[in-house]
Amino acid sequence: MVEHLPPPHLPMTATEPLKSVPTAAVAAAAAFADDANSTEPWSARVRSLTRLGRHRDALALLRDGDPSPPPHALALPATVISCAALSLPSGVSQIHALGSKRGLLPSSDAYLVSALLSSYSRLGLLPCAHQLLDEMPLASTPPATLCTAFNSLISGCALHALPAACFALFRRMRVAGVRFDAVTLLTLVPAAPPSVVPQLHALAARAGLAAETSVANCLISVYARRGAALARQVFDEMPAASRDLVSWNAVLSAHSQNGLAVDALDLYSRMRGCDGHGVEPDAVTLVSVLSSCAHLGARSVGLGVERYMRGKLPGFRTNVQLCNALINFYARCGCLPQAQQLFNEMPRKSIVSWTALITGYGMHGHGEVAINLFQTMVSEGIRPDNVAMVGLLSACSHAGMYDEGRKYFSAMESAYQLRPTLEHYTCMVDLLGRAGRLKEARELISSMPMPADGAVWGALLGACKIHKNVEIGEEAFEHVIEVEPTNVGYYVLMANIYTDTGQLDCVVRVRAMMRERGLKKEPGCSYVEHKGRVHLFMADDHSHPQAKRIYELVLKLEQMVKEKTDGTVGIQGGRMIEGHSEKTAVPLIGFHSEKLAVAFGMLNTVGSEIAVIKNLRVCGNCHSFLKTVSAIANRVFLVRDASRFHRFEDGACSCKDYW
Ligand SMILES: [Zn+2]
Ligand SMILES: [Zn+2]
Repeated sequence: MVEHLPPPHLPMTATEPLKSVPTAAVAAAAAFADDANSTEPWSARVRSLTRLGRHRDALALLRDGDPSPPPHALALPATVISCAALSLPSGVSQIHALGSKRGLLPSSDAYLVSALLSSYSRLGLLPCAHQLLDEMPLASTPPATLCTAFNSLISGCALHALPAACFALFRRMRVAGVRFDAVTLLTLVPAAPPSVVPQLHALAARAGLAAETSVANCLISVYARRGAALARQVFDEMPAASRDLVSWNAVLSAHSQNGLAVDALDLYSRMRGCDGHGVEPDAVTLVSVLSSCAHLGARSVGLGVERYMRGKLPGFRTNVQLCNALINFYARCGCLPQAQQLFNEMPRKSIVSWTALITGYGMHGHGEVAINLFQTMVSEGIRPDNVAMVGLLSACSHAGMYDEGRKYFSAMESAYQLRPTLEHYTCMVDLLGRAGRLKEARELISSMPMPADGAVWGALLGACKIHKNVEIGEEAFEHVIEVEPTNVGYYVLMANIYTDTGQLDCVVRVRAMMRERGLKKEPGCSYVEHKGRVHLFMADDHSHPQAKRIYELVLKLEQMVKEKTDGTVGIQGGRMIEGHSEKTAVPLIGFHSEKLAVAFGMLNTVGSEIAVIKNLRVCGNCHSFLKTVSAIANRVFLVRDASRFHRFEDGACSCKDYW
C-alpha cells in the first residue's frame, strides 16, 4: 500500500508550507490510499475531500496533477474553499491565476467566481474580491452568476461588519440592473440600520420575496429587536403552511422578550393546535414559553411545558439554557423545591442557573438560603456577575438582612471588581429604606456616580411609605416624577403617605396633579389558575360567574377576622380603594382583587395551597386579612405581588410583615 501514497501534504508555495499533522498521518494515509484507488473521476474526488473537510488531501490531489484534460472547472472551486479553510491566501490567488489562465474567469464559471469571492472575503482580502468583481463583464455574464458574485461579496463585507460597504454594493447591483434574490436579503436585512429595514422589506415585497419562509423569518427576527408589532405583522402575513419552526420561535421570542407574555402564550397555544401545521416545539420555543409563564405566573401552562420536556426531550437536563428557564419558572411560580431539585440534577450549571435559584429564594424571603447558595457558588470558582449581585442584594433586602446587604454591596468592587449599576443602588436604597435608615438611603443616592433613575427614587419613596416619612418622601416624589412623570404608582404612593399621616388636603393636591396629567391608577388585578383555566379578578369585580358566593364568603371572612382581631384589622369596604388607602367617606366600594381570588380558591378547592398572582403590591389591610384567614380556615395562600412572594400559613406570612 505504502508505495502508492502520493507525496504527503506538499506545500502550495515555498514560503507557505502546509503544516503536516504527524499524529493523524498514518490514518490519513491509509484513507487516502483508498481514495487513490477510487473509480470516482478526479474532479469529483477533489470535491469530496473538500466536503469531508480533508482540505490538505484535496490540495495534495490538485497538486498531484490531473489525469483528465483541463479546465478542471469542478475541482478548482473546491480547492479554493480548502485554501480558505486552511487560511492560505496565496493558495487562493494561485488558483485565481490558474482559473484566469484557463479562461474560467472573470465570468464564465459562477462556482469558481463565488468560491473566490467568498474565500477572499473570509480571509479579509476584500480589495482582491472587489477587483475580481470589477473585472466581471456585466453585459456578457449570465444574470445568475452576477447575482451570486454580488451576494458573495456582500456577505463578505457583512462578515467583517462593514454595513456601509454592503449597501454600496447593493446600490451598485441595483444600478447595474442585477436582480437580487433571497440570499441578498438574508445578508442585508440583519446588517441594516433599523430605519432601513422597512425599505428592504418593501423591496422584498415588490420582488415577491417577502413571503418566502427564509426571508420572512429573517424579517421577524430583525423587527423583534425593536418591539413585537412589525414582527407579528410579517408572521401574520405569511401563508400558514410556510411557517416553520424558525418562524414560530422568532415570533414567540419577539413577544416574550418584549414583555408581551400573554400574547406569547397565546401564540404557543396556536402553535400546539392546528395552526402549528404539525410543527413541534424545540428547546428554543420552550425557553420563550417558560419565560412568559414565569412572568405571568402561569403555572399550569408551564407545568404542561415541563411534562412535554420530560416526555419528548429526555436529555433536557444537559441543555443549560432550557434548565435555567425551567428553574426560573419554578421559582417565580412558587415551586421552590422543584427548582432546587432540577438545579441539583443538572450535570453542568451556569452562573444563570445559580442566579435563578438565588433570586427565587430571595423572592420568597429566604435570605439565608440565598446567601449560602451565593457563597457555595463563589467557592466553586464561579465569579459573580452584576445580575447575580442584584439577585443577592434583593434577597438581603426582602429578608431585612441589613448588615449582609451592606457587606455584599461593598464587596462588589473590592472582591469581585464589579461596578454597582442603577439596579444595585435600587436594591440598596430599598434595603436601607425598609430597615428605616432613610437618611442613610438618601446619602447613598447623593453619593452615586450616576444620576439616580425612577427606580432608585421610587425605592426611597416606597420606604417613606413604610415608615410614614413625609419630608424625605416629598423629596423623593419630586425627583421621581421628574424622571418618570407618567408612572402613576408613584403618585399613589405619595398620596398614601399623606393619607397615613392624616394630611388629607395634600392627598387632594396629588389627586389634582394626577387629573391634570391625565393619569389613571392602574387597576389592581389578581388571578388564580384552576383546572387549567385562569380566573381573573379586578377590584370590586362582579363579572365572575360565582361572584355572588365569592362576595358572601369575603364578607363572612371579614366579619370573622374583625372578631378574631378585636377590630384591629378593619373591614375594607368603605375605607380603601385598590392602590389607595383613604379615610375619606367613600361609599362602600373596594373589594381588593386578592381577597376575591382567595375566596374563589377556597370555594373551589379543598386542602391544597391557593396560589394567587397580583399585579400591584399587597396592601396592609389585605395582608393582615390573609394572615388571619390562613389561621381561621387552616389554608395556605401563596401570593406573588409586584415585588415578592408572601406565603400565608397559620396566621403568619413568610415576609414577616416586612415587604
Ligand atoms: Zn388590599
Ligand atoms: Zn407577606
